[in-house]
Amino acid sequence: PVVTRFAPSPTGYLHIGGARTALFNWLYAQHTGGKMLLRIEDTDRERSTDAATAAILDGLAWLGLRWDGEPISQFGRAERHREVAEELVRMGQAYYAYETPQELDAMRETARAEGRPPRYDGTWRDRDAAEAPAGVKPVIRIKAPREGETVVYDKVQGDVRFPNKDLDDFIILRSDGIPTYMHAVVVDDHDMGVTHIIRGDDHLTNAARQTIIYKAMGWDVPVMAHIPLIHGADGAKLSKRHGALGVEAYRAMGYLPAALRNYLARLGWSHGDDEIMSTADMVSWFEIEDVNKGAARFDFQKLEALNGVHMRNTPDAELLDILVDTLPYLDGGPALLDKLDEKRSAMLLSAMPGLKERAKTLVELADSAGYLFAQRPLALDEKATQLVGAPPRAILAGAREALAAIEGDWTAASTEAAIRAHVAATGVKLGAVAQPLRASLTGRATSPGVFDVLAVLGRDESLGRIDDLL
Ligand code: GLU
Repeated sequence: PVVTRFAPSPTGYLHIGGARTALFNWLYAQHTGGKMLLRIEDTDRERSTDAATAAILDGLAWLGLRWDGEPISQFGRAERHREVAEELVRMGQAYYAYETPQELDAMRETARAEGRPPRYDGTWRDRDAAEAPAGVKPVIRIKAPREGETVVYDKVQGDVRFPNKDLDDFIILRSDGIPTYMHAVVVDDHDMGVTHIIRGDDHLTNAARQTIIYKAMGWDVPVMAHIPLIHGADGAKLSKRHGALGVEAYRAMGYLPAALRNYLARLGWSHGDDEIMSTADMVSWFEIEDVNKGAARFDFQKLEALNGVHMRNTPDAELLDILVDTLPYLDGGPALLDKLDEKRSAMLLSAMPGLKERAKTLVELADSAGYLFAQRPLALDEKATQLVGAPPRAILAGAREALAAIEGDWTAASTEAAIRAHVAATGVKLGAVAQPLRASLTGRATSPGVFDVLAVLGRDESLGRIDDLL
């Protein structure tokens, strides 16, 4: 069975590129009925924080990317990494090297002076450990092959060949007994039973070095898939301005997890011409072979448009639940949440069809739902104030009379019929009535359809809001 893994370094939030890597691993595991494991690569003690780990777990949970089992701490496995490094020495695949930092510096200097890449020259590869200088704590270096090439058989990039003369005997265990990142990743992936490594193509060169360690141990190399990085809309490296933000920023901007999953999946993977995909679709269609080779471009406008579609495709009650879950993270959202009693929830639910028709994000949705939460008398914004006109506001008064005369149910249909009859009788234009009406009901110049607003607010609240102005 397939085992994938997501292996973030907890040095910051879960950024959008990491989220996409996690998504691809998750989709592939789901697609194959396998597992996705989570490994926190916290070996860098200076830069790793618990807060970052918490933010990553929270981001994954929000995006709906559940991992299997408990998250594994890489740092917690240091003892095992040491064991394997020493085993490699016993097997003759690695060796202790006793250079002092000064000697290594000198080696690099010489290489640079001679125009060679600064690589370790292999001094201790064949030297007898009995000659080791006293008092120097050795590192352990892998005995990398010197001839031929190391090939990374990559499912996305194809076969990537690295001449072995370019890969030196790199360190796997530091002199203080701390494993290097390169080594820890291999030991962990092996021990975790990882079958597929899906990660950013910035790790491709590491993949060659890691392949050398796998081979030295006689372990199977997992299937590798290095996915192209995400660039900004202008093709430049992704920066904050382009959207290189933590996933929690996307939550605060009012994107639905399902829409972000869809958007991120399409960034670097495609299934024919399909743009709008449910998560179930993506799970059934996701194949590593369909991951694109070229860099993807992040485009906020596309994400927004996609989000609007997902909002409209989400059933009203479900969208309301998502909104309620998201309000704590939206600007001004907690205040709305405080006011969201049963009555207002019911109003919000009945307003949902009108609201989601217009909104591209939950921020916009919450904003246009603002009229439901407003206290009487409403504070009108500038445009709305212009629309209701100067006293005595004859048009508004006429509309109020027509509405108050409604007998029977107060619905979008009955209020519309009453207003249409009223404009037909008086010769006033529908727009001339609807605009001040909207302004008095919502305090805004724009809102969902005015008859929907009337229906959602109900008779008493609607007439009361109009009366406040008259
Ligand atoms: N910890 C690495 C990173 O965050 C990922 C390593 C890997 O996937 O092998 O870039």
